[in-house]
Parts: sequence; structure tokens; C-alpha cells
Amino acid sequence: MRSGREAGDGGRGSENTAAAPAVRLAGVTKRYGTGGNVVTALRGVDLDIAAGELLMLVGPSGCGKTTLISVASGILDHDDGECLVFGEDIKRLGDSARTAFRGRNIGFVFQAFNLLPTLSAAENVAIPLLIAGAPWKPSVARAEAMLERVGLSERGRALPSQLSGGQQQRVAIARALINEPRLLVCDEPTSALDHESGQKVMALLREVALGPERALVIVTHDSRIFPYADRIARMDDGRIARIERPGQAPGQ
Ligand code: ADP
Ligand code: MG
Repeated sequence: MRSGREAGDGGRGSENTAAAPAVRLAGVTKRYGTGGNVVTALRGVDLDIAAGELLMLVGPSGCGKTTLISVASGILDHDDGECLVFGEDIKRLGDSARTAFRGRNIGFVFQAFNLLPTLSAAENVAIPLLIAGAPWKPSVARAEAMLERVGLSERGRALPSQLSGGQQQRVAIARALINEPRLLVCDEPTSALDHESGQKVMALLREVALGPERALVIVTHDSRIFPYADRIARMDDGRIARIERPGQAPGQ
């Protein structure tokens, strides 16, 4: 159980988070470009992501999945509509408040791991702490503890190049979880992994990133991991086309 939920806890969210969804998108639109080169990536997206749930986001390439999760994690500003994360309207926050809110509440895992090749696994995991100004030694010690939770207790000193793809993704997950974010967002986290590693990473994500007050959003093309979802949102051309329970998803 996290401890920092009291009022005045430094911006983890507004007070009414208990009943609020983890993420609420209402009529969200997003356009890229200007003039004759405008691409409309989101066309009025309505989506609630509940605390405690693992939502998968699927759909053809270019339908807006990465744009949607970038808006939901405060990386990108939408044009119209409303996006609340744990009750907070991130778009309205100033730069430093936004950075602080994201650092405390949101973790992001990329398809391509994005590990720094010259740093050890533990140092990579410690990066968010170091960026926030924490001293080196305790940060790396905390990172090693997080690596233990993702099943890599012996590999803290290894360089990324000395790890398998599945292990590198575990390091990236440990890095995203080091601040215990309430929302973890993953963009195709298993697409660079073989089937078995992908299944292991999904089981791990459910175990370490979910909780009654935490939510997990995973963009994927990989129907083999659908059974790990609580709900599957299918996107098409900038909209949520439908939402399914995994048992109703095709191919299962
Ligand atoms: P997906 O992740 O589902 O493949 P994206 O969210 O990446 O889709 O893209 C949605 C649409 O927005 C696509 O038409 C894509 O070409 C366009 N797009 C994405 N990022 C940019 C950008 N930075 N500039 C212009 N167009 C973009
Ligand atoms: Mg994408």
C-alpha cells in the first residue's frame, strides 16, 4: 500500500480520487500539423480506465493508439475535450507541476526498451531517481531492490547488451516502476520479445503494476497476450470502435 495519498501530499492528485477513474477521456481530439497537412489522430475519444484494471488498446497501425496513450500520460497535449488522470487535468498544469505530477504518478514503457547502453541495469533503473536529484548510492540500491521484484536480482551490474530481450524489457519495466506510479502505460511492450518472454513479461506486469488504486494500459498487436487484459478497447481511425472483455475477443 502506498503511503502518499493524504491531502497535501505534493500533487499526487485531487482529493476525490477514490471514486474517480484512473483516466477519463471525454471527447478528446488531437490533430498534428498545420494548414493543408493536418492529420486528425484522435476524433472525439471517450474512455474511462478504472483503477485496478488492465486495459489493452488494439487496432491497426496509424489508428491513434500511441497518440491516445501519450495524451493520457501527459506527454502530448490534446486539442479539444477533457483528459483527467486521477482527477488531475494535466494539460492545465504548468511545466514544472506537470513534470512533477508525471514523475510521481505515471510510468511509461516503450517497445524498444530505451536503455542507456553504457549504464548497468541497476543504474538504468535508478535514472528517474537520479534525475529527481536523489544521491547515487541509495538510488542504485533501491534500483537493485526493484530489479529483484522483476526477477533480475543477479543481473544488476550487467550492461543491457549482456541481457536477453526479455531481461532488457524487465529492466525497462523496473525503471518505469521505480517511483511506484499509479498509472503505468506500455506501448507494445512484448512486440520485440519471443512468445514465452512476452507471456512472462505480461504476468509480471499484472503482478507488479496493478493494485486497487493503480491502473495499467497496454498498447499491443499481440493477440496472444489478450487473456491478460480486463478489457480490450479497439481503436479505428482515431476513435474507440468497441470495448470487449478478453473472453469475447476473436481468436481465443
Ligand atoms: P498508432 O500508434 O495506432 O500506430 P499513432 O498515434 O502513432 O498511431 O498515429 C495516428 C496518426 O497520427 C497517424 O496517421 C500518424 O501518421 C499520425 N501522426 C502520429 N504522430 C505524428 C506526428 N508527430 N506528426 C504528424 N503526424 C503524426
Ligand atoms: Mg504506435
